[in-house]
Amino acid sequence: MSFVVAIDGPAGAGKGTITKLVGEKLGLVNIDTGATFRCVALNMIQEHIDIQEEDKIEKMLTKINIEMHPDGKIFLNGEEVTHRIRENDVNNFVSPVSVLPVVRNKLLEVQRNIAKGKNVIMEGRDIGTVVFPDADVKIYLDATAEERARRRVLQNQEKGIECSYEEVLEGIKDRDKRDSTREIAPLKKAEDAIYVDSTNLNVEQAAEKIIEIIKQKA
Ligand code: C5P
Repeated sequence: MSFVVAIDGPAGAGKGTITKLVGEKLGLVNIDTGATFRCVALNMIQEHIDIQEEDKIEKMLTKINIEMHPDGKIFLNGEEVTHRIRENDVNNFVSPVSVLPVVRNKLLEVQRNIAKGKNVIMEGRDIGTVVFPDADVKIYLDATAEERARRRVLQNQEKGIECSYEEVLEGIKDRDKRDSTREIAPLKKAEDAIYVDSTNLNVEQAAEKIIEIIKQKA
């Protein structure tokens, strides 16, 4: 029997950092499903496969091997890609790739397999609605687009990446729209998910709030 905590929400709501912290504090294995989509996008870039080339994508997916190690390292077909999948070319390509039914079907199987038999905290866009509709705890973590843009700009500055607030805000709004209006597994709050707004919370406060919710449900 495994225990599953599903954390869904838009880009920049703090899912990654907060999920990691909650996972460490409660001894849950942290699974970042966005990374699996990023691996598929990177594999397509490496093999020069275009979004329309469904046959090639399908063939590529029969061979793909994605590993998530307990130390947080991510491997694609045996090669470490932990940082590579966060680079700009992947950022720009991942959202259209994640719309493809063939990709979503394959990753549904990959994500369920990664969680099998473990106590996990899994973050993404459709965990509580599609991947684990029977999850023990479901949380929808949100923040205003403006606050999410502000956080992304700060993160970029820390990494030495130049960007303007307006450009980032526009990118976030575009991604929200694409993620929430796609036909298959759109980003939306599961009916039984608990809504947590992180706009005015720092990472520790948001993590505490989520830990409280998990403890109440466990
Ligand atoms: O969370 P992250 O920004 O790394 O996710 C990258 C992209 O993967 C998202 O913009 C979204 O398009 C897609 N994604 C998804 N379903 C998930 C997780 C991520 O469609 N469960």
